[in-house]
Amino acid sequence: MVILVDMDDVLEQLVEAMVKYNNTHYGTDVHSYDVVEWNLAKAFPTLTREMVYSPEYDEDFWSTVEPMPGADTVLQRLIDEGHEVYVVTASTYETLKQKMDDLLFRWFPFLDWEHVIITSNKHMINGDVLIDDGPHNLTGGSYRKLLFDRPHNRSFDEKIVGAVRVYDWDGIYEQISLMAKTPGKA
Ligand SMILES: [Mg+2]
Repeated sequence: MVILVDMDDVLEQLVEAMVKYNNTHYGTDVHSYDVVEWNLAKAFPTLTREMVYSPEYDEDFWSTVEPMPGADTVLQRLIDEGHEVYVVTASTYETLKQKMDDLLFRWFPFLDWEHVIITSNKHMINGDVLIDDGPHNLTGGSYRKLLFDRPHNRSFDEKIVGAVRVYDWDGIYEQISLMAKTPGKA
């Protein structure tokens, strides 16, 4: 199968790292579990939006972002089983080089640039399944959908976009193994 996988908060723990950065730099005391909405700025009412998103523009930030537990071993296993894996991310071009070198290729060295697709229009990409934590990314698209559970998407009913909620990378492996046995798309 062609597996499309989101990067932020699926392959790695971006929210956690941004919360930690902002607490350190701006003296806030927010926990990543306080981030219950897609808009991270809502969890930092005392900071401006520019401050909240400033970590992404700090060259030293990306090396502080941790991979999601199990993501590397499960992705490697899926590739070994013959699946094609593409990272599909809406990352901004301004931060791309640092983000790829210090985060994606550092923790997932078996992936290369030929398997990275940068777009904010994920519904236009062809594939058999998309794994994403963003409800807006799971609207439309001709692939099957897995919603990666995060505190910021728990108020979203994944069934309305025909997605299955998965709670960790073992859950992703399980769902993809099931899909591989059942032909057809969404
Ligand atoms: Mg994401």
